[in-house]
Amino acid sequence: MIENLDTSITRLKLVEGEIATAATEVGRRPDSVTLVVVSKTFAVEEIAPILAAGHRVFGENRIQEAILKWPSLRAQFAGVELHLIGPLQSNKVAEAVALFDVIQTVDRPKIARALAAEMMKQKRCLQLFVQVNTGEEAQKAGITPKMTVDFVRYCRDELKLEIVGLMCIPPVEEMPAPHFAFLGKLAAMCGVAKLSMGMSADYATAVQLGATHVRVGSAIFGGRDRVAG
Ligand SMILES: *Cc1c(COP(=O)(O)O)cnc(C)c1O
Repeated sequence: MIENLDTSITRLKLVEGEIATAATEVGRRPDSVTLVVVSKTFAVEEIAPILAAGHRVFGENRIQEAILKWPSLRAQFAGVELHLIGPLQSNKVAEAVALFDVIQTVDRPKIARALAAEMMKQKRCLQLFVQVNTGEEAQKAGITPKMTVDFVRYCRDELKLEIVGLMCIPPVEEMPAPHFAFLGKLAAMCGVAKLSMGMSADYATAVQLGATHVRVGSAIFGGRDRVAG
């Protein structure tokens, strides 16, 4: 057990080192990249050591799971920044706005409107990313690339939402680099600065192609034995 905990912190430092190296290689500052540690499926006992080591930015993909884990962790560690990186349904918007600081998966007008109304109601202002389905996969969440510019404009101009960037999950069977480069181009067209892209297998590539946020789980915690959505 203790050995496992040490290992996750060792891996965290390794990932941080690789991010810094990748950033430096392309002339970026290492601190221009935020590491979102993806803690889905991992228990509070496994997450707490990462917090104790000083890390504060985490991602979860299921609201119900996050509600069970994060209030107690936040009570122990100040300054947590929690990102929702999984799909958001209308009936979970109130809970999501109450718990998360950043939502990376805004992908349709209905959810954008629900978020705008709920943030007003709760007087909370979350930072939002629009998720883009860069591979145009039928089963994957995200707005289509050709609708992205108009959707970002709608969110900002009509709904007054704080859209800070774009997020993508490339198709598993394809090389990720073209998707990362494409997301960067789309972000420039939308006039947003942040790019959430890159996971355990490809975060260094993502950093070289401009990622400001990488989402890394298994490279830090080890493999997930439970299936995560
Ligand atoms: C699970 C997940 C990750 C992290 O995946 P790893 O391969 O474990 O690093 C990143 N992004 C999203 C959206 C995820 O659901």
